[in-house]
Amino acid sequence: MNIDRSKLHKVYRYILDWFYPNRCPICRNYIGWNNDFCPECADSMTVYEGTADIPFVDRFTAYCVYDKNISPVILRFKRTDRGNSYYAFAYRIRMALKSSGMPEDIDCIVPIPMSKKKLKERGYNQAELMAKELRYMIGVPYANVLIKIRDTAAQKSLGREERSKNLKDAFASDPKYGSINGKTFLLIDDVCTTGSTFAEAARVLKENGAAKVYAASFAKTPNKHSSPPDDIPEAEYEDEISDTDFVSKYL
Ligand SMILES: [Zn+2]
Repeated sequence: MNIDRSKLHKVYRYILDWFYPNRCPICRNYIGWNNDFCPECADSMTVYEGTADIPFVDRFTAYCVYDKNISPVILRFKRTDRGNSYYAFAYRIRMALKSSGMPEDIDCIVPIPMSKKKLKERGYNQAELMAKELRYMIGVPYANVLIKIRDTAAQKSLGREERSKNLKDAFASDPKYGSINGKTFLLIDDVCTTGSTFAEAARVLKENGAAKVYAASFAKTPNKHSSPPDDIPEAEYEDEISDTDFVSKYL
C-alpha cells in the first residue's frame, strides 16, 4: 500500500493541536492547527529581498529579514519553547524557495548539524526539526548528511574571516549516509548572518562530490555578509547568548 506520508503528517498535526493548541510563534496567540503565524504577525515580518554570495553555495534564499521583531522568536525557538515555530519557519522557507525560483532538482534536505554535546544539552537540533517539516512540504527526503565533529568557539565576537577559520573542519560527512557524489542538497538553518556556516557545510558536501548545494534559512541579516546589528543578539548559535542576556532583554 502506498501511504501518503504528507497526508499522515497533516493528521498528526491536527490531532496534536487537541493536546497542544497551536500558537503564533511571534505573539503567542492561539491560531488554527494548520496556520503558521497569525495574520497580523505574518504582515509584520519584513520579507528578505537581498542576495548573498556564499562560497560553495550555488543558490541561497531566506524568507525574512533578521530584525528586532524576529530575533526574540528565534531565541525562543533555540530555548525551551519550540511550539509551532519549526512548522512555521519551514512553511515560510518553502514560500521563499518558490518565490526565489529555487530549482526543484533537490535530492536531499540537510539540516546544519549540531555537536553531540550540544544536542545532548538541548535535546533537539532546531534545523533538523525544520527539515523534518519541510520534507512534507516540498516532497524531498531529509537526512543528517553532515555531522559536527568538534565544538566551535562562540561566533558572536568574531569577524567574518575569523568566523570561517573558527568553523574550518567543524563539519564532516556522516559515513552512514552513503554516497554524496553527484547529488544536489538543500542546506537548512533558522538564521543566516555572515553565511560562514552554510559555506563550511557546503564546502564539505562539494569536497565529497556533491553536484550542487543550495541553502535556505528562515531569517537573514539585512546586508550581504553582515553581522547582526549591535542591538540584536546573535542567534546563529545557542552558546552565543547567555541566559542572563536573554532574561534581561526579553523577560
Ligand atoms: Zn501573532
